[in-house]
Amino acid sequence: MQPTLNDCFAAHHQLMPAEDALAQLRKHVRVSAGTEDCELSSAKGRILAEDLISPSAIPPFNNAAVDGYAFDANALKNNQDTTLPISAYITAGDPLPASLLAGTAVRIFTGAPLPEGANTVIMQEDVETPAGDNTNVVTIPSGLKTGTNWRPAGEDMQAGQCVLPKGHRLRPQDIGCAAAMGHASLRVYKTLKVAIFSTGNEIQNPGTALCEGGIYDVNRFMLATQVRQTGATVTDLGILPDDLESTVDALSLAATTHDIILTSGGVSTGDKDHISTAIEQLGEISFWRLAIKPGRPLAFGNIQGCPLIGFPGNPVATGVCFMRFGFPLVCALAGQTWPEPIQLTLPAAFSLNKKPGRTEWLRAKLKTDHNGQTLVDRHAKQGSGILTSLVEADGLIELGESVEHIETGDPVLFLPFSQFNVA
Ligand code: AMP
Ligand code: MG
Repeated sequence: MQPTLNDCFAAHHQLMPAEDALAQLRKHVRVSAGTEDCELSSAKGRILAEDLISPSAIPPFNNAAVDGYAFDANALKNNQDTTLPISAYITAGDPLPASLLAGTAVRIFTGAPLPEGANTVIMQEDVETPAGDNTNVVTIPSGLKTGTNWRPAGEDMQAGQCVLPKGHRLRPQDIGCAAAMGHASLRVYKTLKVAIFSTGNEIQNPGTALCEGGIYDVNRFMLATQVRQTGATVTDLGILPDDLESTVDALSLAATTHDIILTSGGVSTGDKDHISTAIEQLGEISFWRLAIKPGRPLAFGNIQGCPLIGFPGNPVATGVCFMRFGFPLVCALAGQTWPEPIQLTLPAAFSLNKKPGRTEWLRAKLKTDHNGQTLVDRHAKQGSGILTSLVEADGLIELGESVEHIETGDPVLFLPFSQFNVA
């Protein structure tokens, strides 16, 4: 992993801009997983390992879009009704019919193949037929638009067309599309294996009685859930004590059997912060102090080729940094094309002064003003330890490095949680 910046303890350290950190992450992505075939019924959320090419035209033949009558509009009289004899009866599933007999119409139903020579279909509600069952003629009113109510072969997909690219994460509609092409299974990347550790002598498992000075582990559970929302599998490797030797041992073991390691806490310069030292001992550290809030200390490195992100300990910082840095990296390692965040520009429902030179993410909520306009408001409590601010938010406001002041009504960038699958 290049370049290696052994700058962890530099006294007057330049903080790295968020954009540079993201660019570095992108540069280091090597898809970890192999590929396998996956049946459509379990393909949701899997990532295509090859382009999905339509083997044939879809629909495969010209067909009626409504129940009605098909005919050649050239056979109609000008400015008056035309009565045509009905020469055939074609339903969905019938083999391709013979060409239309000149001067006739055919009774046709939705999805049925359109005979050669017919260029228009009229809905059955719009025609006149003689009373009784023996209706072997149909009267077509004048003024009909030629060419309507049927679907040409290949209208949806052409033979040989790339409908979905390699690296695409499959949604229900994509699976429907694959089925339309006749695929029963798809070539996808194998599921990414992610190891997760918490760190800290004070951190305890929920369900245990809290010791004096202890707090419950938030990050392992939140991170594991965020990771599973990307489709990856998680190995929960528990809580590491604030001890270099056991940190080194645990990380080096995890690196041999996982595609990426995620840790939280222990990435600052405190006496009890061992993550960056452990990464340096075992591999390389690429950056770890960013011009961002929340989450300034954020480590990225690799241990024997296994990437590792060390998230800050504060739960909000860990959760937000996972969304902005971990989520795209985990998706990309799993084979997905790097997902750029969806940013909506919305008017701010607040004013604020901000320190320039760093990117900030505010927990934010959508609201509607009296004109029906959607606005975005920041949560009143923005501390890194205020987990309820994440719970009470719909997404993040991203304020770029250069922003110094936001006035009510100013456009701001809003990143909905839905895109990280955590809505
Ligand atoms: P650290 O960087 O390890 O000093 O952690 C920063 C803050 O986050 C401290 O207040 C920690 O107690 C807290 N913290 C660290 N890890 C977790 C965790 N897994 N769950 C909840 N809080 C944590
Ligand atoms: Mg700690």
